Amino acid sequence: MSDIRTIRTKKRIALVAHDHKKKDLADWAVHNREALAGHDLIATGTTGKMLEEKLQLPVKKLFSGPLGGDQQIGSLIAEGNIDLIVFFWDPMEAQPHDSDVKALLRLAVAWNILMACNRTSADFILTSPLMQDDYVISTPDYSTYLTRQL
Ligand code: PGA
Repeated sequence: MSDIRTIRTKKRIALVAHDHKKKDLADWAVHNREALAGHDLIATGTTGKMLEEKLQLPVKKLFSGPLGGDQQIGSLIAEGNIDLIVFFWDPMEAQPHDSDVKALLRLAVAWNILMACNRTSADFILTSPLMQDDYVISTPDYSTYLTRQL
């Protein structure tokens, strides 16, 4: 049995970009400013500051990624408080917080949330007709994992 939850039309969008990917994310976000303006934006510290300046939209800023921001987003995902993550991670450079990056990607998959890790995917997701309505997602039943911990 799986759990279901409804993601609303107004979505909670997490945005994260590694340093060499920040320009890509900024370009994408500016291009899609109108669409993004209809949602709640949450970001890791430096990414959030940059987006707030570029978009002139409110962005809830968490800690910087290497200081715990990725883990904060992971926690929000596990609590059901993120509907979409746009995570432009850098495939060409190791990060000091690689373990946190891996954990964040894992949680997004574990909780079956929307995730775009490059511009093409982000474009397709943001323009999907499914974005315009409530949408029911199911999360796998992890109750046996919980039981095993007891
Ligand atoms: P930053 O963090 O937005 O604070 O740069 C992003 C990351 O490296 O995860």
